[in-house]
Amino acid sequence: MKNKDDVKKSIPSEDTKVGNEPSNVVEVLKPTSKKAVLDSVEVRMQNLTKVFTDKTGKETRAVDDFTVTIPAGKLIGLLGPSGCGKSTTLYMIAGLHKPTSGQIFFGEEDVTFMPPEKRGIGLVFQNYALYPQMTVRQNIMFPLENIKMPKDEALKLAQEMAELVHIGDLMERKPSQLSGGQQQRVAIARALVKKPRVLLLDEPLSNLDARLRLQTREEIKRIQRETGITTIFVTHDQEEAMSISDQIVVMNFGVRQQIDHPQIVYKEPVNLFVAKFLGNPPINVIEGKVENNKVLLNNGVVLGETNLENREVLLGIRPEFFELDDKGNIQVEVELVEHIGRDTMAICLLPGYEKPIRAIVSTYSNLEVDQKVKFSISRYFMFDKETGERL
Ligand code: ATP
Repeated sequence: MKNKDDVKKSIPSEDTKVGNEPSNVVEVLKPTSKKAVLDSVEVRMQNLTKVFTDKTGKETRAVDDFTVTIPAGKLIGLLGPSGCGKSTTLYMIAGLHKPTSGQIFFGEEDVTFMPPEKRGIGLVFQNYALYPQMTVRQNIMFPLENIKMPKDEALKLAQEMAELVHIGDLMERKPSQLSGGQQQRVAIARALVKKPRVLLLDEPLSNLDARLRLQTREEIKRIQRETGITTIFVTHDQEEAMSISDQIVVMNFGVRQQIDHPQIVYKEPVNLFVAKFLGNPPINVIEGKVENNKVLLNNGVVLGETNLENREVLLGIRPEFFELDDKGNIQVEVELVEHIGRDTMAICLLPGYEKPIRAIVSTYSNLEVDQKVKFSISRYFMFDKETGERL
């Protein structure tokens, strides 16, 4: 019945032995009241570093001096491109990877070297990792059997968690009789059934189609709100992270780039990487300069004033910062018009630049290819040309 080989696992086996069960949740906390409100805890990573060394001695610094505090009861999106160290960070929080250096605290408790089963974490993977021969009920109850919880109590808890994730009426089905979204809910219910202190979600929506992804991410947000559990959600999808997170942590090459509310990270990126990683269509990045306290495009058009000394800079202009304006000083020629639902994107040639810029304009502006139009811009960011830091 509980043949572990049947379980689709993605748990890393690198340096910490993990139990047979696909979810890694532990201590039962306080009994719940009407709703399944869980105890939550602040998670603090202090100078966390993970270096992998392969057989040839080559080192990969997967996570580098990472210091982040995740407030209790919040949903944090850990966001960054493939290979930037998101999963490694998550697995260190889970106890599945040992840090090379640095510390992890749950509240005041140093859990850096605590075994996974003692930490009180619930872990959900991209591929659900359900036992195919068990029913939904048995899957959800499985972690409770491992801690030998009396059956009556376990049945009640499993039902409570199933209802929380809206699959209470599917308890007798096998995973193969469920949709991907429903399977992921079973995985979430199983991760929550032992009332963990921290819920860790590793790209939980990647296997779902676009529509289900949207529904399930709203569902995860609702579950997180109802339970109040500190939740860390790993994704490389900026829109996903922006839409459900209370705060996002942007990573690149294992290094923390920015942590803040999604809107602030979008509106006030600290560097070029963050500015480029967030936003769809992406930000326009063009060369410019500061001359005599004026910010100029390379073609001499003045964008604004500054206290900076004369230098070359990179200018970041989001497509929505452009405004069609007869009195605007940015003259362009429309190269292509793309209708993207509510908005229209105009791809335009800017004199002095080879690469076209993208501007979002009203669908009612009726722009045509080859038309010459004028824009003004409401905002722009300046970045150091060498370091990419925001100026
Ligand atoms: P993705 O979104 O593709 O899952 P990620 O941001 O989660 O990527 P990680 O899986 O944390 O990235 O990997 C970070 C870096 O560490 C990568 O360069 C990866 O190749 C390397 N890495 C991860 N696990 C190991 C390992 N067990 N041994 C050696 N290198 C590893």
